Amino acid sequence: MTDIRTTLHQTTRDLTACGSPSPRLDAEVLLMHLLRIDRLRLVTHPEQALTEEEVAGYARWVERRCQGEPISYIVGVKEFWSLTFEVNRDVLIPRPETECLIEEVLATVPAGAGPRIIDIGAGSGAIAVVLAAEIPAAKVAATDVSTAALAVARRNALRHGVADRLEFFRGDLFAAAPGAFDIIVSNPPYIPDGDYPLLPEGIRAFEPRGALIAGLDGTAFHRRIIGEGADRLRAGGWMYLEIGAGQREIVEAHFRQTGLYDTIRFRKDYGGIDRVAIARRSKDG
Ligand code: SAM
Ligand code: GLN
Repeated sequence: MTDIRTTLHQTTRDLTACGSPSPRLDAEVLLMHLLRIDRLRLVTHPEQALTEEEVAGYARWVERRCQGEPISYIVGVKEFWSLTFEVNRDVLIPRPETECLIEEVLATVPAGAGPRIIDIGAGSGAIAVVLAAEIPAAKVAATDVSTAALAVARRNALRHGVADRLEFFRGDLFAAAPGAFDIIVSNPPYIPDGDYPLLPEGIRAFEPRGALIAGLDGTAFHRRIIGEGADRLRAGGWMYLEIGAGQREIVEAHFRQTGLYDTIRFRKDYGGIDRVAIARRSKDG
């Protein structure tokens, strides 16, 4: 027979021993999800007893965490834009900095507008689903090369009640999605090949490689999306691309080389890193 207090105490010790950088927090988050209780309940009822089944389930989760697996894959969900997204190892775990891209899109869409939007490399659907939820008249195309990722995105669209305004296309960038768009958004893979080995072990061992690596300088996808996107963006339409640290100059040059975009600007994330490239498809050209 054990209770919440004892379990948390022992598990924090175990997670410390196996090298978790945040043992107490990990122990609490895993237990909250397992018992389906919030933090207030966890803190105010330390005497609550755990069943044998709960103890066994918790031990399996803690073991996975000890092997370095990200918490979000273990509990199967991640919060993004205050919505809960299903995640599994077929999709990148949505990152908080991607909320900067959402903010920029919402700041430029006029109230009441019903833009046609495409999200290239939708993964879990985090961007596509939030935009559909925040822009009630929007129609969103979500594309990905990964069939397994699109299945997760589809479930997230259903979970958040926007499936009727989302369409899913499996294919390379724009290839499978017909037509022209008012807004193109993408958080493409942008880790330079040479930087991949330097990523934290928890990312390399568990997150999909194809969601992360992107050629010599990490801007291979940006270059292609900017090039192909010029033909798919309506005149006056907007493109929003997430970028990595140090990629601003290269991405800006990609935009300028086409000669088909104007109003090119960059938005920093809360860590002060240029994180979103924004550009408008020129009216002529
Ligand atoms: N949009 C999600 C987000 O922001 O959390 C996932 C972004 S993840 C960094 C990049 C996604 O692009 C992955 O889901 C990957 O499968 C997809 N992808 C990789 N190559 C692609 C390609 N050639 N065409 C379309 N999608 C691609
Ligand atoms: N921000 C992610 C990371 O640091 C990379 C996301 C991407 O390649 N689009 O792991």
